[in-house]
Amino acid sequence: MDKKGRLLIVEDEEAIRNGLVDVFVYHGYAVDIACDGRIGLEKSLSGDYDLILLDVMLPELDGFSVCNQIRSHSRDQAIIMLTAKTTEQDIITGLTLGADDYIAKPFSVRELVLRVEAVLRRVKKDHEVAPELLLGDWQIDTRNLCGKRRESADVIPFTRREIDILAYLHAHRERPVSREELLAEVWEYKRAMNIETRTVDIHMAKLRKKVERDPKEPALIVTVRGEGYRLTL
Ligand code: CA
Repeated sequence: MDKKGRLLIVEDEEAIRNGLVDVFVYHGYAVDIACDGRIGLEKSLSGDYDLILLDVMLPELDGFSVCNQIRSHSRDQAIIMLTAKTTEQDIITGLTLGADDYIAKPFSVRELVLRVEAVLRRVKKDHEVAPELLLGDWQIDTRNLCGKRRESADVIPFTRREIDILAYLHAHRERPVSREELLAEVWEYKRAMNIETRTVDIHMAKLRKKVERDPKEPALIVTVRGEGYRLTL
């Protein structure tokens, strides 16, 4: 059968879980479920899923811990966090632990489906990026999701999303790239979708911590006021 992808839905609230299963089965996905964090983690680590929809508030093991442990095994696994809280801190925590995206409850089903499709399109496009990127004194291995400074022996891991951001900025290094453009091109969100650009800011802050000598005074990824981000090489 030509399924659009395999999803794992980790959600303890039965009504929400069943609703999500119905929606994604209807849209042509193969769907599996987990009712608590521990089972969710076990199933996630099998690596059988194209994308994991992960609730934050879960019995046994919360969604942040699940996300963190999945990420320590796989930097490639696509994860969208479902958060009941819309506090800045929860969103930052989720994205810092390596989730690809978050969606706040109560969410619109249509928006969730669009976000899942966007993340999966991005996963399939991975092979279009050059195997090595040279950014300043950084050598980035885009296949193995890691990089190092030329003079250093320390290999730093990157997430797929971070590599995608760097590759996009590199491909357009002659000009600043706006957050809206990054959302459209790297996250593949349709421009009409009303998605908060702070997703970009949070990823950028995390990325700068890795690649900048002084993240407070970025020299590699600079902010062009009113325009966006530009890579200086
Ligand atoms: Ca829950």
